[in-house]
Amino acid sequence: MDANEILYDVIVVGAGPSGLAAGIELAKKNANVLILDRKQEIGCPKRCAEGLSNRWFDIMEIKPKPEWAVHAIKGAVLYGPNGKDVPMKKKETLGYVLERKIFEKDLAIEAVKHGAKILLKHQVVDAKRENGLVKLKVEVNNEVKEFKGKLIIACDGIDSLVARMLGLNTKNNLNDTDSGYQYEMTGISGYDEECLHLYFGTEVAPRGYIWIFPKRDGTANVGIGIGAYVSSQTNLNAKNYLDRWIQSQPGLKNGSIIEVNAGGIPVGGFLDKMTADNLLVAGDAGHMVDPIHGGGIGVAMEGGRLAARHALRALKENDYTDKTLSKYTKEWFDTRGNELKRRLKSRHLLEQLTDDDFNYLADSITMEDALAIGNGTLSKTDKAILFTKKLVKRPGLVAIMMKYF
Ligand SMILES: Cc1cc2nc3c(=O)[nH]c(=O)nc-3n(C[C@H](O)[C@H](O)[C@H](O)COP(=O)(O)OP(=O)(O)OC[C@H]3O[C@@H](n4cnc5c(N)ncnc54)[C@H](O)[C@@H]3O)c2cc1C
Repeated sequence: MDANEILYDVIVVGAGPSGLAAGIELAKKNANVLILDRKQEIGCPKRCAEGLSNRWFDIMEIKPKPEWAVHAIKGAVLYGPNGKDVPMKKKETLGYVLERKIFEKDLAIEAVKHGAKILLKHQVVDAKRENGLVKLKVEVNNEVKEFKGKLIIACDGIDSLVARMLGLNTKNNLNDTDSGYQYEMTGISGYDEECLHLYFGTEVAPRGYIWIFPKRDGTANVGIGIGAYVSSQTNLNAKNYLDRWIQSQPGLKNGSIIEVNAGGIPVGGFLDKMTADNLLVAGDAGHMVDPIHGGGIGVAMEGGRLAARHALRALKENDYTDKTLSKYTKEWFDTRGNELKRRLKSRHLLEQLTDDDFNYLADSITMEDALAIGNGTLSKTDKAILFTKKLVKRPGLVAIMMKYF
């Protein structure tokens, strides 16, 4: 029987981290699952700096493999606008820079091993409900084919249209979107290869940061994320800021570029509603990204797996209505969304700070303070010490912080 003559329990649209994690979970529990992607190669283009902390391997119960966990990371260094660094390095490995092209293929192999079917170069161009099911129109080599499923999980990334085709508004607003631009560079030096390096400042990267994520000896992902609205205000786009900065770095400016990546990042604007009849949405398509650093691989996988678990429940209950599926939205906010909302609040705080404030913070606080501010988890004692001792000469900064914490 042709793949499009089958009635699938679940059709997952998008074979990125969220779609593949959903596919694995569904296939493991014997659901009849099809994963469609418009790309011609899983994991490519990567549109990502490929950093993933150990926390996510634990949450997803994945063991890092040397084929794709290519570079161990032991810490991070934050740089203020005046170049002052705030380092934090541990003895143990805290995470990895991945080779995402291999990582995602590994996830795809896992999904298929458990019984999922994957079809590439299949672009969903229309979705409609019919007799309690969903009918997808899919463009394949200039031909349109139809596929039918009881449930759709939309994991189709930041430009997601599938959820919108089924009546769920997942549009990103400009204020909660970052523009990302990145080079994989080689022949570069001058930074500690065991750490991630993050550079801040309104001249460097307005409403964002520049990163160096080391990948191999002398090779790293060097990129930038800035507010998507910035270029209309400054006439400089993400590439312009990145190129200018690279030219100012003696260890980077003579390096060679071996890959160019660009993409948008949803950094906030969480969806109050992530389901409709026959539909669940996950990953970037559901705005599941950390609003401070823009990391989304781990959250996307966790979200995809959770969506799959709710799809399995709906299949068991033979009920594909929004009413039943909507428990997914609640569970996602309970397990992850509310934490990310706190971090969004912290990002709004950081957006109020001037370069002078950042320089002052770089001089006065530790990386632990910075992490607690980012997480919105400063304890009462930490707050008291921060406001009355460390930031005592900066009442304006204390006033901003007190508004948020
Ligand atoms: C420059 C940059 C750097 C980043 N760095 C990091 C980082 O270091 N660490 C981190 O954790 N995160 C990072 N992110 C974020 C991370 O890449 C995303 O959050 C993650 O890829 C989201 O996974 P996803 O599965 O939701 O979506 P995607 O990975 O975007 O997958 C969506 C898939 O859907 C497919 N698709 C879309 N529309 C259709 C359609 N109509 N029909 C069929 N298929 C369709 C696409 O081809 C794609 O394969 C970065 C992002 C950018 C842009």
